[in-house]
Amino acid sequence: MERKKLYITTTLPYVNAEPHIGHALEFVQADAISRYFRNKLGKENVFFNVGTDEHGLKIFRKAQEEGLGVIEFVDKYSQRFKDFCKLFLVEYDSFYRTSEKNHHEAAQKFWKKCDENGDIYKKKYSGWYCVGCERYITEKELVDGKCPDHGVVPEERNEENYFFKLSKYRDHLLNWLEDNPECLKPLSKVEELKRIISEAEDISISRLKESLPWGIEVPNDPEQVFYVWFDALTNYVNVIGFGKDEERLKEWWPGVQLFGPDNLRFQGSIWQGMLASVGLPQSYKLLEHGMVLGPDGRKMAKSLGNVISPFDQEKKYGAEIVRFYLLSGISTYGDSAYKEDDLVNMYNSRLANNFGNLLNRVIHLSNTKEVEINNLGEVDAHFKKEVDSYADAAKQLFGDFEIALGSEKVDELADFGNKYITKEEPWKKELPFETTQKILNNLSYLLSVVIELYSPIIPSSAEKAKRALEQRESIILFSKI
Ligand SMILES: [Zn+2]
Repeated sequence: MERKKLYITTTLPYVNAEPHIGHALEFVQADAISRYFRNKLGKENVFFNVGTDEHGLKIFRKAQEEGLGVIEFVDKYSQRFKDFCKLFLVEYDSFYRTSEKNHHEAAQKFWKKCDENGDIYKKKYSGWYCVGCERYITEKELVDGKCPDHGVVPEERNEENYFFKLSKYRDHLLNWLEDNPECLKPLSKVEELKRIISEAEDISISRLKESLPWGIEVPNDPEQVFYVWFDALTNYVNVIGFGKDEERLKEWWPGVQLFGPDNLRFQGSIWQGMLASVGLPQSYKLLEHGMVLGPDGRKMAKSLGNVISPFDQEKKYGAEIVRFYLLSGISTYGDSAYKEDDLVNMYNSRLANNFGNLLNRVIHLSNTKEVEINNLGEVDAHFKKEVDSYADAAKQLFGDFEIALGSEKVDELADFGNKYITKEEPWKKELPFETTQKILNNLSYLLSVVIELYSPIIPSSAEKAKRALEQRESIILFSKI
């Protein structure tokens, strides 16, 4: 089904720390997808949401540790994510914050609707709660009595909490996944998601307010607050009008959701059950990007000394080179090691030597030979067909959310252009003027296509390249590093 409108959202990062390279990957991926679809469908037909998840015990305690009021604390870190978006040219339509009043109201409406549908009940609960995970850890998951992810003994909790009847939606969700396996990327995760859904139990969705003073109040029960995930997840539909503007909601939902590898349970099972409970369609696409590993191929950890900071990388190479590497060199859906050597090599070979070099040669030659270029009507039909077949393949890939593979196609097109210029030798003196003009005009068409296709990945350089080509202005856009 061809979609006329596209809504895309990242997960909302938890604001207890600085943005890391995994956030950078997710945000630039979502940005590249939304830019591609803005070009394709028109700017007004794409809505791109990012934001920050700002409740929970972890944040409350972290604020105390830093000696800040909790509002002050979330304001500070939320701003860091905004700065980060600006730095990496992430052009969102909405920056959603869960600490805002609108969100509180919408999340409470969501709760009420689940409740009306008989999906919320109260029961006594005791269990092991890991603050790091912000959830209860089952007996089975504990390793030597500790959380396997955080290596700490979880806190024992005895509370009366509200529960969401996730188990009620198992069959519904399994059927949905059976009928739409392509809703999840990578496809290799479908079996894992099926297992997660078929094992889904009802989940606790509230805390006692006295043990968690920083959260949204449960409707009609001021002693309880929302479980942080249950409130944050609702942002995906609140931002497009849930509980407020049904027309708008219908216009945009279901949407495309990006998330990281530790998030499949929340996005693919819990959130989908919540959608079913309020009678909304399941997500259109669930895109699970891979993990960015340290240069040594291991999971990044301070203790291993292999952490890559997106801010340091930006300082060293500039935002667009980092974007280019994250989108072209890091696998879109698999785990990849972040290697600066690869970043440098990829930039030099694809942008400096291939695309950049062709751009310089065509502009320079068209000036010295005094020929007309950028004349679409005069492009050789056979040549145009070849260029368009590369472009179609790239668009197919981008449209299918295969960013790295799409970028590779664009590189192949630039390479085709370099082979063409080498073979046709438009610099040769003995060539008739008409022939020289034809060759260079053909290449200007090819370059305009390359520029357009690269624009979601390197928006600012693409803009400069476009202007340089149109004005035939000799610039070195991509100097070697
Ligand atoms: Zn944990």
